[in-house]
Amino acid sequence: MATPTAADGRAQLPPVSNIQMVDLKAQYRAMQEEVDAAVLDVIRSGAFINGPAVKQFQAGLEAYLRCDHVIPCANGTDALQIAMMALGLEPGDEVIVPAFTYVATAEVIALLRLSPVMVDVDPRTFNITAELIEPAITERTKAIVPVHLFGQSCDMEPIRALARKHNLFVVEDNAQAIGAEYTFSDGSKHRTGTLGDIGCTSFYPSKNLGAYGDGGAINTDSDELAAKLRMVANHGQNRRYYHDVVGCNSRLDSIQAAVLNCKLKRLDDYGARRNAAADHYDQALADIEGLLTPARQPNSTHVFHQYTLRVDGGRRDALQEHLKTAGIPSMIYYPVPLYDQNAFRGTAANEVNFLPTTDMLCKEVISLPMHSEFDEPTLEFITDTVRAFFA
Ligand SMILES: *Cc1c(COP(=O)(O)O)cnc(C)c1O
Repeated sequence: MATPTAADGRAQLPPVSNIQMVDLKAQYRAMQEEVDAAVLDVIRSGAFINGPAVKQFQAGLEAYLRCDHVIPCANGTDALQIAMMALGLEPGDEVIVPAFTYVATAEVIALLRLSPVMVDVDPRTFNITAELIEPAITERTKAIVPVHLFGQSCDMEPIRALARKHNLFVVEDNAQAIGAEYTFSDGSKHRTGTLGDIGCTSFYPSKNLGAYGDGGAINTDSDELAAKLRMVANHGQNRRYYHDVVGCNSRLDSIQAAVLNCKLKRLDDYGARRNAAADHYDQALADIEGLLTPARQPNSTHVFHQYTLRVDGGRRDALQEHLKTAGIPSMIYYPVPLYDQNAFRGTAANEVNFLPTTDMLCKEVISLPMHSEFDEPTLEFITDTVRAFFA
């Protein structure tokens, strides 16, 4: 592994070794006794499905999100699918999604024979906006799925107003932003996931609130939607062996819930640590020509699921190679627009095959390591290495 040299030719301090995109082992070490005991408790109790740990987590997440109903489920993709199934949509109904997102957002829509309509995103926040959504609305549009990408809220007040005007459901894909808070113009603050009709999130291990396996949750303030969501997630039954709708089987298991109970009370602390790392990155990388640090949506907090830079001039892949040589991992979220994925060719109702910002972002974005367990030398080594590339 090459040792980067500083601008004056001196070798830098020994490179920090074993840098992770997400450091789950260090996070575990900091709460090992508590997690071990909680997991053992489940094993000893034998309550593997819908045990007390699941009920505790459901109540804990309802309190954290400040919402009326949380329905735990098996993963974030199921959360989105169950949400879509509960809305009572018809095949061919259109659902608006960003073209710049993880595949799951649109996948569940296509799977249900609904029509994902892809729209472009803002080049600074990476999120869809009311202005970008409005021209895509047609007679058949039934819902919008704003994705709070990389950890900050879409500008939801105008999106809600637009949805109300056109009588559309809003289903938030909150897989990357749990813990972020959006401030409305009247000063009221609400968590992402509680800004529309239904919120969906994921507890995939590398998410901000990550289980030690798969997990997900759906939330809503509507009693009626909550009842439907619960029924869909449980084989379409309210009463055992009486199935009113075709549903699915999607549960959060008790062991994962036990882990999540330990981590939920630390989630805001994890968010603060991620913000401290983002502040370090921002300061060290702010003034570099050809490099854009992530913009903050003014009326949202950011939980930095990812810290994502833009590199112009076609040098993004070279920067990634430079980081790799120094032992620093990085990721491209996302390299291919949804409309260019083979799976979606011909499915988008508006037959989108090019959106300029999405196209540009897929070529320019790069995400640096981001988690809650950094030390100062590691962050400095990463930013020094990035700076050396542009020097
Ligand atoms: C992770 C993620 C999902 C899916 O979550 P899984 O738990 O992996 O199924 C959906 N949407 C977005 C934006 C995600 O980042």
